Amino acid sequence: MTIADNVRRLLAEMPAGVRVQAAVKTRTPQEITEVLEAGISLLGENYVQEAESARAGVALPAEWHCIGHLQKNKVKKAVGLFDVIETVDSYALAKEIDRHCAGLGRIMPVYIEVNSGREPQKSGAMPEAVEGLVREIAGLEHIRVEGLMTMGPAGGGEACRVAFRETKRLFDRLRGIDLPGVELTELSMGMTDSYRVAIEEGSTMVRIGSLIFGPR
Ligand SMILES: *Cc1c(COP(=O)(O)O)cnc(C)c1O
Repeated sequence: MTIADNVRRLLAEMPAGVRVQAAVKTRTPQEITEVLEAGISLLGENYVQEAESARAGVALPAEWHCIGHLQKNKVKKAVGLFDVIETVDSYALAKEIDRHCAGLGRIMPVYIEVNSGREPQKSGAMPEAVEGLVREIAGLEHIRVEGLMTMGPAGGGEACRVAFRETKRLFDRLRGIDLPGVELTELSMGMTDSYRVAIEEGSTMVRIGSLIFGPR
């Protein structure tokens, strides 16, 4: 199976309303270009440094999302490289993004990363803290909150179902709250080992690496 075969098979399997994002960490510009040529235009990159060289090496247009944990000292570079930052999990990080975007005169769409498995060693805001965080971020002029993102607990598949279901419930509840700069439309959840369950539980965006490119 080539990368193009894998992409076509995956796209054919997607129900309406679910977008596929290719998770491209450690992949070459050539591999990324194959994905774009096969019909995916949404890319997720974990590392700022890698995104910089990948963007320079890939000629085709694409939407680039930051899906890795973002350190504050990398924000300046990140806001110039990414179209969406999916991993906002603290007000301090949001404020730093806002500050740099103000300097560039742009508004950054962000998703709040939810630690849906409530695992202390993982990044993401605890589910019960997300509403407060969204309300705080709503006051920042150069950020628009457009979604939630979650990894789910280790194990994938059925092991993720409860966490995904709770994240969807949180997403729906937050959508009912009217706040300036908050327009929740995307629920980014599901990876190679969990995307089918994620779609059943209401995902609008799955982030797929190994199933497209093969194991790392
Ligand atoms: C690597 C990665 C993915 C894709 O994982 P696969 O299991 O290779 O599909 C999705 N989301 C994030 C945040 C990742 O780091």
